[in-house]
Amino acid sequence: MSLIVQKYGGTSVGSVERIQHVADRVIGYRRQGHDVVVVVSAMSGETDRLLGLAREIRPDADGRELDVLLSTGEQVTIALLAMALESKGCPARSFTGAQVHIRTDSAHNKARIQEIDGARVRRDLADGRVVVVAGFQGVDEMGNITTLGRGGSDTTAVALAAALNADECQIFTDVDGVYTTDPRVVPNARRLERITFEEMLEMASLGSKVLQIRAVEFAGKYNVPLRVLSSFEEGGEGTLITLEEGDMEQALISGIAFNQNEAQLTVEGVPDQPGVAHRILGAVADANIEVDMIVQNVGADATTDFTFTVHRNDFDKAMRIVGERARELGAREVKGDPRIVKISIVGVGMRSHAGIASRMFSALAAEGINIRMISTSEIKISVVVDEKYLELGVRALHDAFGLEHAPQEAS
Ligand code: ADP
Ligand code: ASP
Ligand code: MG
Repeated sequence: MSLIVQKYGGTSVGSVERIQHVADRVIGYRRQGHDVVVVVSAMSGETDRLLGLAREIRPDADGRELDVLLSTGEQVTIALLAMALESKGCPARSFTGAQVHIRTDSAHNKARIQEIDGARVRRDLADGRVVVVAGFQGVDEMGNITTLGRGGSDTTAVALAAALNADECQIFTDVDGVYTTDPRVVPNARRLERITFEEMLEMASLGSKVLQIRAVEFAGKYNVPLRVLSSFEEGGEGTLITLEEGDMEQALISGIAFNQNEAQLTVEGVPDQPGVAHRILGAVADANIEVDMIVQNVGADATTDFTFTVHRNDFDKAMRIVGERARELGAREVKGDPRIVKISIVGVGMRSHAGIASRMFSALAAEGINIRMISTSEIKISVVVDEKYLELGVRALHDAFGLEHAPQEAS
C-alpha cells in the first residue's frame, strides 16, 4: 500500500460534474489500496473573480485582506469534494491550510511554506479517510491567512508529499503531461515522458505555467517523485519529473517556454561612468520592481545604453522612475515598449553540444524575426522579440529543433 498526494487544478474542479468526476477518480485509487491525500484549487476563474471584486473596492489591494479573500476559493472546493466523496460512500474530511498547520512566512500573496505538521493528516488517513486539503493557502506565525502566489496549489501538494513522505505526488490538470511547449500555441507539441527537475525549473521560471516554480524547487530539493497527468483522460502515464539519468532521452533541447508578461525599457546616451548602472537599476529595485534581462552597450561617444525588462504590470511605474533618474544623469532618451515577449529554449543537452544558439538565431532569421535581446545560461537561451512574432517564433523553433519527434534512446 502506498501514499499518493494528488492535486486537481481549477478546470479539473470547475463544475459540480467535474468535482463528481474527481471523487470517482480518487475512489478508484482507494480501491487499488492506496492512501490518498487530495489538494484542490479553486474552481477555474474563481481566483480572478475574487481579485476583480477586490480591485473594484481598492485598486491597489494587496496583502493581508487579499489573502483572506482569495483563500475562500479553495475552501469552497475542499468542502464540495469531501461531500462528493462521502455521498459516494468514501469517508473523507476537508481541511484548510491552517487546520493542517501549513506554516508560512508572512509575505502575503507570495508566502513561502516553512513547515507542515503532518500528524493531523496521518491520523485521518489511519482512520481510513481521504484527506482533502485546500491548496494555495497557509497560515503565518501570528495566525494570519497567507497565500502562496498564483498557481500555488501545486506547491501545497508537493510540500505535503514531502512532509508525509508520500510515494508520489500527482498533479492532475487539463493537459496529459508536460509538453515540448504549450500545446495551445503549437498543436504538434509532443508530450515528454520525462523531464529533469532542472529543466522543468527553467521551463517554469521562463513562463510555462503548467507547474508553479516553487513546486518544482520543492520537489527537487526533497526528491519528491512528481508526475503531471490529465484529469480528463484515464490511464495515461503523464510526465515524470525526475533526476537526470544516463538513459534519458538525448535531446539537444527539451522544450520551449515563453513569457508574455514582460516589457522593455531602454535608457540611451547615459554618461559612461562608474555607478550609472546602480543609479538606474538600483532605483528600480528600491521600488520593489524585479528586473529580468539586462543589456548594456558602450557607445563610441563616452556614453552607454541600458536595456532591461520588467513585468508588464510594473512598466508604467518603472518608466516614471527611470525617466527621473535619466534626467538627473543627463541621459539622452528613455524608450519603453510593453509589446514584447521572451522566448526561451531549454535543455540539459546544451551542456554537451555546440551550435545551439546559432541554430536558434538562424531559425528566427529565416522567418524575418528581429531579436532585440539575448541572454543565456548553461541550459537555456532566451531572446526578446516583438509580441506579434510569438506564435511564429515558437513554432519555427519547435520545427528547427525537431521537437515533434521523440529523440533516439541513448545506448
Ligand atoms: P491548473 O488549473 O490545473 O493548475 P494550469 O492552467 O495552471 O492548470 O496549467 C495547465 C496549462 O499549462 C495547460 O492548459 C497549458 O496550456 C499550459 N502549458 C504551458 N506550457 C506547457 C507545457 N510545456 N506543457 C503542458 N502545458 C503547458
Ligand atoms: N487558485 C489559485 C490560482 O488561481 C491557486 C491555484 O490554482 O493553484 O492561482
Ligand atoms: Mg496551475
